[in-house]
Amino acid sequence: MHAAGVMHKRNEGVEPRMSEYVRALFQAYYRQVGVDALVPKDLTRREFGFIIPGKKGMVRHQAFLDPKDYKGFLVQNSPAHAYHSATLYNSPWKDRMDQKDYTGCDLIFDIDCDHIETPCKRDHDTWICKGCGGQGAGKAPEKCPKCGGNKFEDRSWLCDVCLDKAKTETRKLIDDFLVKDFGLPADSMEIYFSGQRGYHVHLERDAFRKMGADARREMADYITATGLSISTIGFLPMTKGIRGFTTADPGWAGKIARGLLEAISGMDAGRAISVPPKELELLRANKDVLKKRLLENDINWSLAGIGPGIWGHIIERLIEDLKCAIDVPVTIDVHRLIRAPATLHGKTGFVNCKLTRQQLDAFDPFTDAVVFKGNAEKIKTSSDVPRFRIEDRTYGPYKKDETDTVSIGAAVFLLCRNLCEVVA
Ligand SMILES: [Zn+2]
Ligand SMILES: [Zn+2]
Repeated sequence: MHAAGVMHKRNEGVEPRMSEYVRALFQAYYRQVGVDALVPKDLTRREFGFIIPGKKGMVRHQAFLDPKDYKGFLVQNSPAHAYHSATLYNSPWKDRMDQKDYTGCDLIFDIDCDHIETPCKRDHDTWICKGCGGQGAGKAPEKCPKCGGNKFEDRSWLCDVCLDKAKTETRKLIDDFLVKDFGLPADSMEIYFSGQRGYHVHLERDAFRKMGADARREMADYITATGLSISTIGFLPMTKGIRGFTTADPGWAGKIARGLLEAISGMDAGRAISVPPKELELLRANKDVLKKRLLENDINWSLAGIGPGIWGHIIERLIEDLKCAIDVPVTIDVHRLIRAPATLHGKTGFVNCKLTRQQLDAFDPFTDAVVFKGNAEKIKTSSDVPRFRIEDRTYGPYKKDETDTVSIGAAVFLLCRNLCEVVA
C-alpha cells in the first residue's frame, strides 16, 4: 500500500528524525485541536498508519472505535505523518489485507507539485546520488550520469509558484471536470490542502465508494486526456473541408471548442496562448471568422492555410492546457492511505486543511496552513536553503552555517526539513 503524497519520496521509509523542539510543538498542537476536526467520516471503518519518530517504517493496521482514542493516540505519539485508508473495511485492524473485509473506497484525486512541471524547480530542487554523492539541479534523473546508480535523495522544495500551479489544477479538476463534465454538486466533494505540496479532493458518497478500479481508471483517463483521439470524438478532415467541434458539444469536443474560443478571445486582450509561432500567426489571421463560427456553433473549421496537420498541433496544445494533472495511481488504487484531516505534516509543520470550494480561491498555504506563529527563534542553517516564505516574511536564501532570527513557523519548517538547528 502506498501513502498518497509521500510515495515518491524515496527516503520516506527510513526512521524519521524529529527534533525535540518540533515534537513538543506537535504534541501541544494535538492537545488543543478539536476532536471533530481530526476525525474523518466513518472513522471506525478505516485503517490508520503513522510515521512515528523513533519507530522504524510505518505503524500500520491501527483502528479506532472512539474519536477520543484517536486523538489520544495523536497526543501520545505526535506522529510526523498520519494517514488513514481511503478504503472502508469491516475489520480495519486486521493485519492482512485479505482479512480486512473491503466494503468500498472513497474516490480520491491527488494533485501534487511532484507531477507538475514548473520552471522554478530548476532553481529550487536538487538531488544527491546515494551511490556516488553526485548532485544536480531539478528533478532526479532515472540514472545517475556519473555512476549509473538509481537511488537519490530528493531535495524538492516548495514555493508560491509551484503551489499556485497546484491550486490552479485543483480548481480545474473541480470546476471543469467534476462539476461541469461529471455534473457533481460542488458540495459533494471534500477538498484538502495536503500540508505540503498539493491538494486532495475526496468523493465519499456511496456511489463513488462502490466504483471498481476500471471505472476509476476511465475517469482518470478522461481527466488527464489519456488516449484521447480527436478523430474518435468527431474531428474530421473531409473532402469539402474540416469538420470541427462546437462549444455545446459534450465531453472533450466541447472543451476543445470552448478552449479555442477563449484562446482567440484572449488574443484580442493581448493574452499569450501556448501554440507555436507559425500556428499562432495562422490563428491570428483567421481569428475573426473563427470566433464568429464558434459563437454560432458552426462546425466548419476550414480556414485559409490551416490544414488538418496544423489543426492537430493547435488542438494538441489546447488539450495540454485543458487537461488536469492528477496523480493517476492515487485515483485508481483502492488500497491507499491518504493524509488524515487536520494532522501535521512532518516535512513542513503545516497542518492539513479542509477547504470549501470558495475558501480554496483565497487559500494561502504559506500563511493559512501555518500553525505555529509568532515569537522569534535564533536558528543556524545546517545546509544551503533556497528562499522561502512563511506568512508575510520571505527568508533566505541561506548558505550553510548562516544564522538568523526567524518566526516559530519558519524555524519549524526548516527543522522539519533537517536544514537548521535552534541555537540559544
Ligand atoms: Zn551516482
Ligand atoms: Zn517552485
